[in-house]
Amino acid sequence: MAKRIGIIFHGIGTPDRPLEPGEAPYWISTDQYRGVLDQICALPDPDAVCISFDDGNRSDIEIGLPHLQERNLRADFFVLSGRIGKPGSLDATAITALRDAGMGIGSHGVDHVAWNKLAPDALKRELELSRDVLENICNARITAAGIPFGDYSAPVLSALQRAGYDCAYSSDGGRMDDAAFLRPRTSVQAAMTAASVGSILSARQSIARRMRRMVGMARKRLF
Ligand SMILES: [Zn+2]
Repeated sequence: MAKRIGIIFHGIGTPDRPLEPGEAPYWISTDQYRGVLDQICALPDPDAVCISFDDGNRSDIEIGLPHLQERNLRADFFVLSGRIGKPGSLDATAITALRDAGMGIGSHGVDHVAWNKLAPDALKRELELSRDVLENICNARITAAGIPFGDYSAPVLSALQRAGYDCAYSSDGGRMDDAAFLRPRTSVQAAMTAASVGSILSARQSIARRMRRMVGMARKRLF
């Protein structure tokens, strides 16, 4: 497949765990979520949108999944292995149910920390322990990672490849290439209007913004 647009959902509805600092803008209402899915379905090719969920919130299975299934859409769920079974997060049964429903399961690490700031041993643990825990639950290989906070660098990308991941999803915005290791996405936020979501889905970006993105990605990939 050629270029696609990647979008990220985090939490939907009312969170049933204390939120991290800065997390609230990424929680959206069920109505807003349904609206975004309907916008995707109205596109000439809904499969050109790569839908993902980060953090492994309980709302992934309670709200995320049923509305995807109603619309025959598929998504990838990037789960934090350290939160599995905790209040407000997915448990092993829910992860298996997502997988059985044809959804993709990937790693978002163990503890929701910025990978770029970790020492090599701690980074290795984030990438390998989360992968092992999810592989045990899913009884399948886990080969995709969602990078927490989109915070990566050349050493992070090398560590992901050494840990056996085939692809890593960032949050650099713009289009993604399905054949590339690094796949940029854009987060849906509560403050976004249908028009701003429409701009994301059609990858409309000013030239200045596109240039900033290219330079930012090149810098992170190289250093
Ligand atoms: Zn996250």
